[in-house]
Amino acid sequence: LKTALKDPSLLVSKAFVAGKWVDASDGKTFAVTDPFDGALIANVASLSREDVHKAIDQAEIAQKEWAKRTAKERTKALKAWFDLIIANADDLALILTTEQGKPLAEAKGEVVSNAAYLEWFAEEAKRLDGDIIPGANPGQRIMVIKQPVGVCAAITPWNFPNGMITRKAGPALAAGCSLILKPAAQTPLSALALAVLSERAGIPAGVFSVVPGDAEPIGLEFCHNPKIAKITFTGSTRVGRWLMREASDNIKRLSLELGGNAPFIVFDDADLDAAVDGAMISKFRNAGQTCVCANRIYVQDSVVEAFTEKLLAKVATLQLGRGTDTGTTQGPLIDERAVAKMEEHVNDALQHGAKLMAGGQRSALGGNFYQPTVMTGVTQAMKVAREETFAPLAPIIAFKDEAEVIAMANDSEFGLASYFYAKDMARIFRVSEALEAGMVGVNTGMIANEMAPFGGVKQSGLGREGSKYGIEGFVELKYICLSGI
Ligand code: ADP
Repeated sequence: LKTALKDPSLLVSKAFVAGKWVDASDGKTFAVTDPFDGALIANVASLSREDVHKAIDQAEIAQKEWAKRTAKERTKALKAWFDLIIANADDLALILTTEQGKPLAEAKGEVVSNAAYLEWFAEEAKRLDGDIIPGANPGQRIMVIKQPVGVCAAITPWNFPNGMITRKAGPALAAGCSLILKPAAQTPLSALALAVLSERAGIPAGVFSVVPGDAEPIGLEFCHNPKIAKITFTGSTRVGRWLMREASDNIKRLSLELGGNAPFIVFDDADLDAAVDGAMISKFRNAGQTCVCANRIYVQDSVVEAFTEKLLAKVATLQLGRGTDTGTTQGPLIDERAVAKMEEHVNDALQHGAKLMAGGQRSALGGNFYQPTVMTGVTQAMKVAREETFAPLAPIIAFKDEAEVIAMANDSEFGLASYFYAKDMARIFRVSEALEAGMVGVNTGMIANEMAPFGGVKQSGLGREGSKYGIEGFVELKYICLSGI
């Protein structure tokens, strides 16, 4: 990998603490491998809980200085970081693909589209306006200011190893917080490469740190160290629930971006070709490993056959392979556990009467590859309709009318993304408002961008990333009662 990079210095295996590149105090490391073939890429420093404790002390000192800077200075540093990410996007994409497996074009798309969160929040830093409110009593004014919450801890997943970081670092740093990040064990190299660029951009030492290591001890340190004001997490609902419980002793602020089980609905008045294109993007991007992936595809009775046929034609064009090979549109799944879950959902559906239309098996490529799979005759009771599959499985569930499909779509403890295709304007409003989800894609399968509030309802999480709302989780409101004036 190193020799393939234009700038080999972006590939690092040490942790980044208080502006220094460090090993674990006990010298411990963990292996990072290529999910394509299991080849070793690097042995990365595995920090202990004690190491992270010390890093938090440094992050606290750095935060105080950072918060004193003018918004304009913070804007400048974040913009410089953004510019460096764009300038190095090819290398960052190659590092990402090598440790994560997704096709290179998708990796570059992730890097560039999520760097936009840094650019966006660099601009928002200057707009953290307060309020002056008329006083409740004579001689009084109510003044409201926004202040950074303090030192923030981030825990990010492996499915978007680069993008999930800039989404969190952007608002945190813009608000005047410092951020200490534990990346996923499968994909720490993208995080460390971003740290190299943060240093070059002039983000001061300790304002952004990366502390790879075992999830649980570091998670416990984040939850129980009183110097951490807030935890921002993207990952499974299981871990989110655990963090919330552990963080409750100290009443920590939490943003949680958790699992989803997105319904993707195709009504009889939809443009079917557009719906198929949307389903392909929403279902098969990143081999089905995104939290906003269509998990359940509901198609109205009268168009189910036509939709399925068109979808199968598109699925047949998917090309499995190494992410760096030209033409690859689907890489391997992240690990054996992911393949096993796909298998479990496919087998459960088949046992309960679903019909296999494409795929249904591990790929001949071996390893972590599974064929893109389409099934019809799926019902609400099957595992694939109840749990997040996080793999390239498109289950088609037929429905009769709007009321039925809304009830089925909402019959989930999750509420992250949802999608539907329709033309009738009244229906578009009715269904958008009725879906229990933080986000609704109408006639589109791609909804995330830096200008929109990304997040979920129900057990899909708390808080929003992106947009003017995305910075709110990183500031506290302070009310100053001005009297005697
Ligand atoms: P997935 O099952 O998709 O890997 P996880 O929620 O397990 O999702 O992982 C998301 C992130 O949470 C990763 O960085 C992982 O290391 C971290 N994580 C997992 N378990 C814990 C834990 N007990 N405490 C803190 N972080 C954790």
